[in-house]
Amino acid sequence: MRALESVVDSTQFIHGPEVKAFEVEMARLCQTSAAIGVGTGTDALVLALMAMGVGRQDEVITTPWTFFATAEAIAHLGARPVFVDIEADTFNLDPNRIEAAITAKTKAILPVHIFGLPANMDAIMEIARTRGLKVIEDAAQAAGARFKGKAAGGLGDAGCFSFYPTKNLGGMGDGGMVTTQDAALEARIRQIANHGQLPGQKYMYHSIGTNSRLDSLQAAVLRVKLRHLNAWNARRRAIAALYRKLLEGSLVVTPAPHPDYEHVHHLYTVRAPRRDALVEHLKAHAVGCMVYYPLSLHLQDALKFLGYREGDLPVAEKAQQEVISLPMFPELTDAQVHRTVEVILDFYR
Ligand SMILES: *Cc1c(COP(=O)(O)O)cnc(C)c1O
Repeated sequence: MRALESVVDSTQFIHGPEVKAFEVEMARLCQTSAAIGVGTGTDALVLALMAMGVGRQDEVITTPWTFFATAEAIAHLGARPVFVDIEADTFNLDPNRIEAAITAKTKAILPVHIFGLPANMDAIMEIARTRGLKVIEDAAQAAGARFKGKAAGGLGDAGCFSFYPTKNLGGMGDGGMVTTQDAALEARIRQIANHGQLPGQKYMYHSIGTNSRLDSLQAAVLRVKLRHLNAWNARRRAIAALYRKLLEGSLVVTPAPHPDYEHVHHLYTVRAPRRDALVEHLKAHAVGCMVYYPLSLHLQDALKFLGYREGDLPVAEKAQQEVISLPMFPELTDAQVHRTVEVILDFYR
């Protein structure tokens, strides 16, 4: 409340000092030279792609196992999302399948750190560097996640964040950010996000841009919450470890920890046989759960024009039958985790 009041008192609602300070703090977290506050996570993706020159006739390789905005951002620019199937154990883009999907039109690779688990960025960056492609990380679910000690958003050419309230770093409304090491890319993103104006040249327009910015009230809230991010993520990991221990030996397949990957468990997604019946059972026992995601993006109506069919991406299609996300948030108590697992084990008995 003090942070909000100070913004109100300052009357600097747009591009104020809170936004600048939050940009500096996010750049520090990601070890990047720049972070650019934008309106939403979706905007972050569109602006990063646009600033890299992705447009009509171009292809961008991405995962079908993500929130719709990832592919939507690509399609929005007239480019083609090229879906590459996922790894069964991580739900992330499978680097072994990327080479086969590269064509002369491929401009970029857009991995998503899904559910808070970083994608295999060593393998992805190596392919991108040898093939001359850009890499945009969709880190919307992965604030504070790390791959080999380096934070998500600082691993590719650009990182995109969403501060939608339910994300593991969430504001009190919409917000987004792009992180990058590339000063020229930073300048282009800032220009596009401000109607194509260059700094210091007010009402002179150099390109067709848009209006997308993080507002100061959100930045003030997010700065307060950022101070707690590591502790909250650690609590999420502790909850994940407890779930894994309690579900060991059951029919439920839980995400396995790996020393190179610091998962932040934005969502705690497991595989479970007879998933739909389990959802009903949990609901009947007042345990919250959700299915992320019920339909892989390559089979969505809105993307039918891409020409994908059932059977094209079998790993993602199997996941859509089996996944269920269990309660996960830092304030969840151990007793609530025990209770959730009891209800699940009872279902299979
Ligand atoms: C939430 C999300 C987005 C979009 O973010 P918004 O702020 O809602 O626009 C993009 N990608 C992924 C993976 C997300 O989870």
